[in-house]
Amino acid sequence: MQLLKEKILSEGQALSKDILKVDSFLNHQMDPVLMKEIGKEFVKRFAHKEITKVLTIESSGIGPGLMAALELDVPLIFARKRKSLTLTEGLVTASVHSFTKKETNTISVSDKYIKARDKVLIIDDFLAVGQAARGLADICKQVGAEVVGIGIVIEKAFQSGGKDLRDQGFQVESLARIKELNVGQITFIEEREGAIVHV
Ligand code: 5GP
Repeated sequence: MQLLKEKILSEGQALSKDILKVDSFLNHQMDPVLMKEIGKEFVKRFAHKEITKVLTIESSGIGPGLMAALELDVPLIFARKRKSLTLTEGLVTASVHSFTKKETNTISVSDKYIKARDKVLIIDDFLAVGQAARGLADICKQVGAEVVGIGIVIEKAFQSGGKDLRDQGFQVESLARIKELNVGQITFIEEREGAIVHV
């Protein structure tokens, strides 16, 4: 997605070989116009999938997830990372280790909102080693819902998550796929419009 790649090149910061900071438009401040386009692009890529729910994880998946849900006219559910005062019964949980924060969280979703009949589109902001997406897919599996696809805003393709999830048979669609990060340099995987190098 060209607009997203341009935004990453102009505002993203490679903090190391592993971590990309995009706080100005995705992870802290959010660009609603870009988010709207992201929602439309996800829907294009998962057309004809008869999606009934979008599932994401708090907090950075909520923006792109909500925009996709709005385009699809279906509800968005976000898995909670922390215990909630009001969400205590019928919880379906999975364990997720955070690549960036180096901590393990139990994520939870109420069984009221995902049912065996649901066709679920999983959305997240980043894909690194795939723990978050796997945890969300595990929650769907526990309730018998079908995961019809995984939509990712930024995939760090040099990490293992994308390959592992595709090998498991999931349709993973990433709107920007990063080949390599170096401090001050972001390289995308060569797709139709060719590699873009940012120094
Ligand atoms: P995974 O579970 O695939 O290993 O990592 C994905 C999760 O970790 C995402 O939900 C995202 O919040 C966070 N994450 C992983 N890599 C990065 C990164 O390079 N930058 C940012 N901002 N978040 C990341």
